[in-house]
Formats: sequence, C-alpha cells, structure tokens
Amino acid sequence: MTDRPVRTRIAPSPTGMMHIGTARVALFNWLYARHTGGQFLLRIEDTDRERSTEAAVQVIFDGMRWLGLEPDEPPVFQFARADRHRAAVEEMLARGSAYRDYMTPEELEAERETARAEGRVIRSPWRDAAPNDAPDRPFVVRLKAPLEGETIVDDKVKGAIRFENRTLDDLILLRTDGSPTYNLAVVVDDHEMGITHVIRGDDHLNNAARQTLIYQGLGWEVPAWAHLPMINGPDGKKLSKRHGSQAVSEFDDMGYLPEAMRNYLAKLGWGHGDDEIFSDAQAIAWFDIVDVVSAPARLDWDKLNHLNNHYIRLAEPKRLADLVAKILKSRDVKLHPGDEALIERTIPFVRDGAKTTLELADAVLFALKTRPLELPEKTRGQLAEAELSERFARLRAALANVADWGVPALEEALRRFAEAEGVGLGKFGPQLRAVLSGGSPAPDLAGAMTALGRDESLGRIDDALSKGS
Ligand code: GLU
Repeated sequence: MTDRPVRTRIAPSPTGMMHIGTARVALFNWLYARHTGGQFLLRIEDTDRERSTEAAVQVIFDGMRWLGLEPDEPPVFQFARADRHRAAVEEMLARGSAYRDYMTPEELEAERETARAEGRVIRSPWRDAAPNDAPDRPFVVRLKAPLEGETIVDDKVKGAIRFENRTLDDLILLRTDGSPTYNLAVVVDDHEMGITHVIRGDDHLNNAARQTLIYQGLGWEVPAWAHLPMINGPDGKKLSKRHGSQAVSEFDDMGYLPEAMRNYLAKLGWGHGDDEIFSDAQAIAWFDIVDVVSAPARLDWDKLNHLNNHYIRLAEPKRLADLVAKILKSRDVKLHPGDEALIERTIPFVRDGAKTTLELADAVLFALKTRPLELPEKTRGQLAEAELSERFARLRAALANVADWGVPALEEALRRFAEAEGVGLGKFGPQLRAVLSGGSPAPDLAGAMTALGRDESLGRIDDALSKGS
C-alpha cells in the first residue's frame, strides 16, 4: 500500500431499513477515518432498481445524521455511474483482462453441466477466441481471471485468506443488456472515490477475492480490506427482530441517545482494554482496525441500557427536555407554556434512574400535572385526620419560610420540622410526596419541591389541605 490519505466509506443498498449492522460498519469506518485524519464517505448502492426506494435512501441519511456519522462529502449514487462502469470495462477489453462471451443460454447450460461433472468452474470457449471471430449476437463481458495460482485477501481483521484461482470463474462484468454487475460497480466506484480501506461486513469476504481480480485486471491499486464479524443476538444466534435487528431509527424511538449507541456499537467487536465507557475523542484516539476481533459480537441490552443511563446523566438538561417534550407530545400529553422549562428543571432530579429517554419522560410526569392534583385515596383519608392535617398546616408554614428555595435549604427545613414535631420523616414524608406528585413516581422530597418551584409546591399542599379539611 502506498500512503495515500485514508478514505473509507459505507456503501449501503437502499432496499429497506438501516439496521445496526450497517450502523456499526459506518461507525468503524468513521472512527478509522477520524483516527487517521482521513475522510469518511457514503455511497448509495442503488443499482437494484426494483428494490431501491427513495424512502430507504432517506432512512440512511436520517440514520447517519442521528448517529452523528455524517460523511465528509456528498453521497455518491451508484446507479448514476453506470457509464463509468462501462468505460472501465472498455479499458479492460483493451488491456486484454476481459473478453466478450457469446455463449448462448443453451451453451452456457451445457458448459455448466460439464463443469459440474468434471468438478471445475465454468470456462467459456470465448476466453481465448480471436476478436474478429465475434458473431452477431448478444454477449456478456467477463473478467479474464488467472487460471492458476492464488488470490490472497490480506484482511486486517481476518488475516490472509487464500483463494485458489482455479475455483473462481470468469466473473460477468457487463450483462447482455450492457448493465454493470455488482462487483464491477463496487471496484470502479471505490477506485474513483479514492477509497483506501474497505471496511465492511464479512459476508463480503468472497467478493473481496473477486474484486481483487478486477482491480488487477484494471491495473489499479487494491485497497486494504477489513471484514467485520457478524453481530449476533444475546443468545449467540443470528440477529432476529426480537433480538435487535431493529432499524437504527427504532433505537431513537426506544429512547437511546446517539452517543450511547456509538459507545455501545464501538464495543461490538472492538475495545480498548477493559474500558466500557469512552468518549468519541477517546474512541478516535484509540481505534485501529487491526484491533477488531474476528469472533462474532453479541448484542447485550443490559450493557446498552447501562451506557444509555450513563449518557443520560451526562447530557445537557435542555437537550433532554427537548427529547422528553417530543416523546410526551407523541403520547398526546398536552404541554402548557412553561412546561418545557419545568421539564428541564425536573430532569436533574429524576435522571439517575432512567435507562432511556422514555423512562425519563415517565419520570417527569408528576411535575406536569395541573392543580388541583388527584390524590390517592389513601392519602386523602390520612389527610382527613386532624393530626396529620394540622401537621401539614405547620409544615406548609415552615416551608413557606424557606428563603433560598433549593435542595439544601429544603432538606434542612424538612429535617428541622421533623425535629420540632418530635417525629421521624416517615410520619409525614410519604404523604407529602403523594401530595406533591399525586401518587406518580417522583424524586425525593427536596428534589421534587425544587423542580416544582415554591409556588407550585406550596399550592399543591394548599390544595391537599383544603380537600382534607
Ligand atoms: N452494498 C453492500 C451492502 O449493502 C455493501 C458493499 C460494500 O461495502 O462493499 O451490503
């Protein structure tokens, strides 16, 4: 390899969803490009006209944007480059590394049977025919691959994989209708995009041997190969819908943060010692393709949840509040003016236990309730008793005296109040919590009151007192 500046790419086919296997391939390509100061590109392999859709192209763009893995150049669309693919084949014909094959379908079938009986791959008689023997009938163009020796795919993850050339048939490059085939298009595009490292799933390992022969037929430099192991489900079996073969966008819908996904996906097949949690900057500094392990990786939801919780605890409350507001709107929760600020204030008190932003949305609901709150029956009954309602009236007065409304002052006020009353917090804390939250899950008392603010907290207590009396 010469030391050309590193250029990597992903080349998804827009034929459906973008699942996490593609996301991981994208991440590894992005990390490697960033690690080496190179560039990361995107090619849409839309040559399958029946199955490629614009919606699926959009899914790829959205998925990449959400993951924060945007390419450094505008995307390349493969179908639009068919003329370039054909031009490369002309060059191969001129170089003698490809030939026109005029076998009829019947002849091909007969050759296929003979080849099978003789335990070899098919060989066209046109391989060595003189050019002016050409009949006037449809033809395909085939690669004139070497008959002997071996083709070595020197893979950065798998090591050197050897293919005996006699087992590789002369690959079709152009079909009878002149349309380019998959392996040809990949090679021409990768070459012209200046791709130095092809990092992709190991289901393409066999293609790498074929593609190597095309590079050689064109006299082009073969890129470095790195074929990543599969991602299996938690049970070690092939990913299934139930076990995470979800679309990337579904992880967004399930309440995962993109930075958690990046950290998590990076750990699927690569790692840095025992480090579980690392920033993008650390991953970029540490990542090297040769450290990817060749064994299949396993999806582990517990680990993903753990990481997501970590990043939820680190994220800016404003950003989380926007996400939570979006989730609540999608659940038809009506938000009033000021609610987004309230959500933002509440988040620091509830996020420690949240594994996803969906859980975070559940956890802020107590704060969004509008007065008067519906109280649990048990609390209503307790407040109807004189002892507790009188204590609540004194508690309200004590709280109203708190000058610097915030966790430290409120904790102090609650502690002093319990002392003054000569009772433990257990004698009024659970009821206060129910009064503040209407029985929904809520953080501890000082946190809940800080999130709600002074007026709303005292107001909720007032409502409870007037109901209880
Ligand atoms: N289009 C291929 C796929 O979606 C990727 C080809 C490649 O990376 O070379 O699997």
